[in-house]
Amino acid sequence: MNLTVEKNGSLILPPELISSIGFSSGDEVAIDISNGEVRLTRAPPILSSARTGGTLADSIARKNLQTGIQFIKGIGPKLAALLEKRDIRSVEDALYLMPLRYEDRRELIPVSRLSAGQSAVFSGKVISADVVTTKGGRRVFEALVSDDSGTITFKWFNANSTWMKRTWKVGRVGVFSGEVNQYGYQREVHHPDVEWLPEGADLKAVLAADPANFGRIVPVYPLTEGLHQKTMRRVMREVLNGFLDNVESVLPDNLLPVGFPPLKVALSQVHAPNQDAVLAELNEGSTLAHRALAFDEFFYWELGLALKKRNVALEDGIAFQVTHRYTKELAKLLPFELTAAQRRVLSEIKSDMMLPHPMNRLIQGDVGCGKTLVALMASLIAVENGYQVAIMAPTEILAEQHWHTIHGWCSQMGLKVVLITAGMKGKAKKETLERVADGTAQIVIGTHSVIQEKVEFARLGLGVIDEQHRFGVLQRGILRKKGINPDILVMTATPIPRTLAMTLFGDLSLSVIDELPPGRTKVETRMFYESRRSQVYDMIRAEVAQKRQVYIIYPLVEETEKSDLKAASQMAEHLEKDVFPTLRIGLLHGRMSPDDKETIMGSFKLNKLDILVSTTVIEVGIDVPNATLMVVEHAERFGLSQLHQLRGRVGRGSAGSRCILLTTGRMSEDADKRLKVIESTTDGFRIAEADLEIRGPGDFLGTRQAGMPDFRVANILRDGNILEQARQVAFDLLDNDPDFSAPGHAALREELLRRWGRRLELATIG
Ligand code: ADP
Ligand code: MG
Repeated sequence: MNLTVEKNGSLILPPELISSIGFSSGDEVAIDISNGEVRLTRAPPILSSARTGGTLADSIARKNLQTGIQFIKGIGPKLAALLEKRDIRSVEDALYLMPLRYEDRRELIPVSRLSAGQSAVFSGKVISADVVTTKGGRRVFEALVSDDSGTITFKWFNANSTWMKRTWKVGRVGVFSGEVNQYGYQREVHHPDVEWLPEGADLKAVLAADPANFGRIVPVYPLTEGLHQKTMRRVMREVLNGFLDNVESVLPDNLLPVGFPPLKVALSQVHAPNQDAVLAELNEGSTLAHRALAFDEFFYWELGLALKKRNVALEDGIAFQVTHRYTKELAKLLPFELTAAQRRVLSEIKSDMMLPHPMNRLIQGDVGCGKTLVALMASLIAVENGYQVAIMAPTEILAEQHWHTIHGWCSQMGLKVVLITAGMKGKAKKETLERVADGTAQIVIGTHSVIQEKVEFARLGLGVIDEQHRFGVLQRGILRKKGINPDILVMTATPIPRTLAMTLFGDLSLSVIDELPPGRTKVETRMFYESRRSQVYDMIRAEVAQKRQVYIIYPLVEETEKSDLKAASQMAEHLEKDVFPTLRIGLLHGRMSPDDKETIMGSFKLNKLDILVSTTVIEVGIDVPNATLMVVEHAERFGLSQLHQLRGRVGRGSAGSRCILLTTGRMSEDADKRLKVIESTTDGFRIAEADLEIRGPGDFLGTRQAGMPDFRVANILRDGNILEQARQVAFDLLDNDPDFSAPGHAALREELLRRWGRRLELATIG
């Protein structure tokens, strides 16, 4: 065979050879050189939506959707690199890039009919364009644009005028869009979007020739620098035209809620809405197409959770016996009765613990509802059965606090409770670890230090995780592996909105303590501006005059931030010397030694201090019913949940309590919203909902480590009811067909494993 190599290094293949390997003219070919071989492959891979009889996971259609975006017609390396910045690497990535919003370009509106507040699309000719100086001395770039019917003004602030003049040439015709404002008689659009028409072109003809951009509702995509809306729409059009047929769904029609279009149709309508689509619904993401996509995402996630829950429920676990030996004894020691809610939740836990399968339960309850006690009761059941308990808290301070409470009760019953801290060294550490390993330590408390490799348990029977939302799903798994399928109890003091709980902890059983111990009073909350500080001081004096105690809280973002620490110490000094010379004032912060902290807290508890100036370390731990006033300095700097937790430190006795939020008045919109919420309600769940709304799911939970799945379309805030529907369908499906044996269900399991298998550690179920 004759192969010619040209001077420039090109290799020429004779036509017979090309046709004999099945290539034809126009094919794009990928070249791969390795192991001394040159390999030519057609790229993209075979574009055929025909099913080959294989399962969906390895079908050709599926592979086609994985085609690299660079192989799409008209996408070169430069554009591919830009798309990659928006995480678009494959055709599938592109299909799931949701438009940010939509623009109604079904009709161009005559300029004379543009009205204020309208977001409009219209065309016109540039009449004039230049920099003008306003009366206030500001330089603004202004353009006048008109069509046959009227004229409108465009304005740009801080624009590069040289560049602007070059583009905004008098006589140029374009299609513009933006929001119309009215100032006196003048209608203005600030920073309009523009698409220029070729010179001398006929508007109607141009519009008709470009159906992707005109005469319809067009999607507006998120971009990146250098990537234009028009380009993005072109990419999407190519992707839809070339690959939409490869989109297949294995979800049987009967599982899809009535009216929801199939996946393929939904994707197409989201990118290229129908002529009769409702703009507002598109922009809210509430069209049937959007909802169908959200359903599709939620469904597989919830199916995964259902499967996970079922798998755990089938595993062998410890069947504890409830002997009441220690639980009864503790009940006698307690100076109070358990609330009805505590008793209910405890009995739910007991039934779980008695089953020969591992417990996996989440306790939710507002601050101060008495979760610790419930967890301790559960721990005692494990101890009665000769098992060890591990209790994991998110911070050292909280771990210490648990140790105090639990050790306090348990030592009276002759039980051994140990605390593992990060700072523990040498002999003390070695000894503690030995006690854990030989089983003498019955209850082991600590931070994530408890799940470190070095810690070995003799017989771990129960793991308690406090404040789960700060830990990932991973820690739950590691803790589980410290024993042989121990029971797991997860507690959260930050109420988690239902939708979020379903997403994150959907594989757990849920118990809610929805009742506070009796005698707690509602805390009245008010915001005060700095200017009224002296009034706040008067309130403090009045409170102390009635023999009550006061907290003054300082924000401390990081416990190591010296400047904030200084602010708190200086304030304590200032209050002591200048403001309340006759009152007894103490200072508490995270950098004090544990002994000093304890001394101060102790004196405050014993009413030997009138005022406790503190950083957020008192967020957990202090329980002083006589403290009835809390003043929060720089309240705008705190998060909602944090404020709620702090406030929970007052209102613990029978006397009426108040919380004063001091602010400078200069604050962000979000801060303002936060303070209004905290002022208006003490309901932890409502506060959590608001917090979630203001911050979004990622921030609410402290980002990824918290284990939020990356949904591409679905949004748990917006699509809460779809989530509920999807969960119902998924759980029902598994109830009726636990091993996916019904026709078509095997494919569902495969799809589930493909999407979330690794994430949910489901891969092993085969
Ligand atoms: P949580 O952890 O849910 O925020 P804790 O378990 O710390 O709440 O309980 C808060 C306070 O309420 C503690 O001082 C605890 O001793 C007390 N407490 C718990 N249960 C009851 C009850 N049934 N009656 C009265 N006080 C209770
Ligand atoms: Mg607690």
